[in-house]
Amino acid sequence: MKRLENVKLFLFDMDGTLYLGNRLYDFTIELLDTIKAIGGKYMFMTNNSSKSVVDYIKKLEGLGIKAEYTDFITSSQATAYLLKKEHRDSRLYVCGTQSLKDELIREGFNLTENVDETDCIVLGFDTELNFKKLHDVSYLLCTRPDIPYFATNPDYVCPTEFGSVPDCGSVADMLYNVSKRRPIFIGKPEPLMPELAMEMTGYTKKETAVIGDRIYTDVKSGLRAGALAILVMSGETTKEILDASEDKPDLVLESAKEIIPVIKKSLK
Ligand SMILES: [Mg+2]
Repeated sequence: MKRLENVKLFLFDMDGTLYLGNRLYDFTIELLDTIKAIGGKYMFMTNNSSKSVVDYIKKLEGLGIKAEYTDFITSSQATAYLLKKEHRDSRLYVCGTQSLKDELIREGFNLTENVDETDCIVLGFDTELNFKKLHDVSYLLCTRPDIPYFATNPDYVCPTEFGSVPDCGSVADMLYNVSKRRPIFIGKPEPLMPELAMEMTGYTKKETAVIGDRIYTDVKSGLRAGALAILVMSGETTKEILDASEDKPDLVLESAKEIIPVIKKSLK
């Protein structure tokens, strides 16, 4: 708890941490207001590359949370950030939604649908997937074994009202079956999103916490980034899962509500 008192940058997972499905937790507004009151900053961190930040702003507004563009750190943004470092001038073949393509275009990348012009492949959580895209990426991976190949997030499934649908990691597995190649994954559990958030805001590792309800994505990315990794038990992790996990959070809380009194101390 001592380390939590010094945290100024709070990187929140959303579903299972601040709300569940379409139900906002009763403490979320107070928590976000308290972070503002202590002069801190919060950001919403998501692996979902099928939705744009604008989509998420609408979703949060529907739940009663006012949010703006700079309050988000998404796997699409982290992908753009990584690609800028080494593949600035590459023409990208994007197997992803129009939202992901728009985000990459906005960041100044050249996109192509012509496999002969492609320098680099980007795989996203593609809710607009079709066989032509699978065919094109298979062709690229099979004929050009060294082509740079990235994927926004390693999740196998994305939860839905009825269960789940295949996410980016599952499509990457399909492509592994044809090419024996795996992409470089970018979203949680990689440390890139928390690192990017720290770089964007100027806060140090000691001043940063990653808060989420999944050990193998949220907590792991926080641990790898050197931030305070907080597990909340308000989502999908049970005590049995926690006990069996090799990755141990720095802090385990019943819910993110418990953060409020700790950080309020600095107001006195
Ligand atoms: Mg979650």
